[in-house]
Amino acid sequence: LAQWEGGGNQEKILVSVRLRPLSEKEIAKADPSDWECINDTTIIFRNSLQDRPMAPTAYTFDRVFHADSTTREVYEEAAKEVALKVLSGVNSSIFAYGQTSSGKTYTMTGITEYTMADIYEYISKHEERAFVLKFSAIEIYNEVVKDLLNPENTPLRLLDDPEKGTIVEKLTEEVLRDWKHLKDLISICEAQRKTGETYLNEFSSRSHQILRLTIESSAREFLGKDKTSTLVASVNFVDLAGSERASQALSGGTRLKEGCHINRSLLTLGTVIRKLSKGRNAHIPYRAMTHIPYRESKLTRILQPSLGGNARTAIICTMSPARSHIEQSRNTLLFASCAK
Ligand code: ADP
Ligand code: MG
Repeated sequence: LAQWEGGGNQEKILVSVRLRPLSEKEIAKADPSDWECINDTTIIFRNSLQDRPMAPTAYTFDRVFHADSTTREVYEEAAKEVALKVLSGVNSSIFAYGQTSSGKTYTMTGITEYTMADIYEYISKHEERAFVLKFSAIEIYNEVVKDLLNPENTPLRLLDDPEKGTIVEKLTEEVLRDWKHLKDLISICEAQRKTGETYLNEFSSRSHQILRLTIESSAREFLGKDKTSTLVASVNFVDLAGSERASQALSGGTRLKEGCHINRSLLTLGTVIRKLSKGRNAHIPYRAMTHIPYRESKLTRILQPSLGGNARTAIICTMSPARSHIEQSRNTLLFASCAK
C-alpha cells in the first residue's frame, strides 16, 4: 500500500483532453477537423478557413489524446493513478466533461471497467488484507437525485451527517460478491439510463451519472480487534451532462432567455474546480483563501468528500474534432485550462 500513500492537498487536478475521431456523419458532410495533437501534452488549433486566417493556437494540458488513442491509453495515463488511490484510503473522482456526443460515455465506460479490473486484481494479490466493496449509482437531473439501482426510490434527499458529511438518504448500496456481480450492476445502470423517459437524448444530455465504488479494507491480523486500522474510501466515476448547457447559460444564450433550466450542478462544479485549482496553484491552503461553494448544487454536495482536501481528482475533457463544433470545443478547452 505504501506506494500510494500520501497525496497532500497541494496536488493539482489532473487535466487531460481527448479528441475523438470524426464520426461517419461528419465525414459524410465533409466537416473537416482543424485540431491536431502535436505531442503528448499539446493540442493545436490550425485555422484553415480561407476567409478568416488566424495564427495557430496551442493549448497545453497534463496529457492530450489524439483521435487514434485507445481508452486503455487514456485510462493508464490520465485516470489510473488517481482512481487507484482508493486502495490506500484516499477518495477520488474521475470526470468526463464535454459537449453531447463528444465521447464522455464512451470514455468513462472504459475507464470504469479498467479501474474495477485493476482493483480486483490488486485484491486477489493481497490476501493479507480483508476487503469489502460496495457499489452505488446516482443520476442527477434538474437537481433531482435518482437511485439508478432502484428507480422507484426517487427522489433521494441529501442529509447532513455530523460525521460523514453529506449523505444520500436511502441510497441503495450493494455489497459486492464478486467481479461478475459488479458487472451486472453496471449493466443495470446502463439499461436504466437507456429505457423509458431516459431514452430521450434531451434527458441523457442533461443528466449527470455518478457510479461510486467504496472500499473498506483491514489487515486480517487485526480483524475484529482494532478498528483504527481499517481504510475506507470511495472512487467516483462521473459522466457529466453535456457542457453545451453550461456555456449557453454563461453566455446568456437563447436557452436561458427562453427560461430553460440552467444546469446548476454543472455550473457549480465548474466554480468549485476553478477555485480548488487556483488555491492549489497558489501554494496557499485553499480553505484559508476562498470559500468553495460545494453546497450550491446536488452534484458538488454529493461529491464534496471526493473533491478538494486530501482527495484526488482527474478530469478528462472530450471534444469533437469537427469544424462545425468549434465553439463548443473552444469552450471545453477553456474549462480545461481553468481546471489546471
Ligand atoms: P457523449 O456521452 O459525450 O454524449 P458518446 O460517448 O455517447 O458521447 O459518444 C458519441 C458517439 O461517438 C458514440 O457513438 C461513440 O461510440 C462514439 N465515440 C466517442 N468517442 C469515441 C472514440 N474515441 N473512438 C471511437 N468512437 C467514439
Ligand atoms: Mg453520454
